[in-house]
Amino acid sequence: MQEIRIEWTKQPKEKPADESKLGFGKIFTDHMFLMNYTAGEGWQDPRIVPYGPFSLDPSSMVFHYAQEVFEGMKAYRTADGSVQLFRPYENARRMNSSCERLCIPAIDEELFVSAVKKLVEVDEAWVPHSPETSLYLRPFVFATDPSLGVHASHTYQFAIIASPSGCYYPEGINPVRIYVESKDVRAVRGGTGYTKCGGNYAASIRAGEVAEEKGYSQVLWLDGVEQKYIEEVGSMNVMFKIDGKIVTPALTGSVLPGITRKSCIELLKSWGFEVEERLLSAEELFDAAESGRLEEAWGTGTAAVVSPVGEMAWKDKHCVVNHGEIGPTVQKLYDTLTGIQWGKLPDPFGWVVKVK
Ligand SMILES: *Cc1c(COP(=O)(O)O)cnc(C)c1O
Repeated sequence: MQEIRIEWTKQPKEKPADESKLGFGKIFTDHMFLMNYTAGEGWQDPRIVPYGPFSLDPSSMVFHYAQEVFEGMKAYRTADGSVQLFRPYENARRMNSSCERLCIPAIDEELFVSAVKKLVEVDEAWVPHSPETSLYLRPFVFATDPSLGVHASHTYQFAIIASPSGCYYPEGINPVRIYVESKDVRAVRGGTGYTKCGGNYAASIRAGEVAEEKGYSQVLWLDGVEQKYIEEVGSMNVMFKIDGKIVTPALTGSVLPGITRKSCIELLKSWGFEVEERLLSAEELFDAAESGRLEEAWGTGTAAVVSPVGEMAWKDKHCVVNHGEIGPTVQKLYDTLTGIQWGKLPDPFGWVVKVK
């Protein structure tokens, strides 16, 4: 594997004094990881350098044709002061699956994980200490050919930046109101729904804005072909407890294969729950709600871990889930996952990777 060279900053930044005001993705650490690809030469010069702007030709392909993918993960500080990652090889694998779809050359998975670890080690002092805070990590790769011709780029920039982030639930976990989007779709079968590409997000912004105007905090996405089946909530996967069983949309190609989703499924099965990964129509979901069989609903994702749903609206229908309160299954998932991630609970599945 290639050696990662380190160029230390000569102007370290002031670290945030008040960890309760960190928010999400607003401040960045002193360093970033970079690596460049050129056709015929492969990925080269893996390095950690002072954090700073890119200089890009205005014709760079990423600006015009959005050949770009990214990942999202966190480094967690444990009670003994050490720092750990959660299932980083899953991120490495998913990044390559996204790359394959967008014709971006693959990145060695060991190198990906080493790069993440090295950056966290270099900027270790930026990993916050307060409960439920973390260092959010954003690996991303984009096309840099200075050319307006539509083809796969021959050159790419890979980068990892890191952002100390606050507790996601500073006021405690409050269930969210969600709105079933019947006009815009996020992804279609055969498209890029299963990848973490910026383009999916660009397509989802409008529905999010409309939902917010109507007083909802997230969009519940339907499939892009029949606009019938539930796919995701906002930028999270979604799960329901119906009649004691867990139902979650199957990975049909337009659903993002979340690592939190996968971990929840593994935990739920280990607790004896039956988990069905299948098509679930909005009609079936609202029927279950109306007949009192919908017990709990929640989103899953790295940022929030789990996010309970308290209310849902679809066309002229409206329902309240679990009296608008967090249910026992979501609460147990939250406690267990965060317990493993912050090192407060044992890690029976071997999900945790120490940074050093
Ligand atoms: C990242 C993401 C998720 C959640 O994935 P995790 O690996 O659990 O963070 C779900 N849906 C979309 C659209 C995403 O981009």
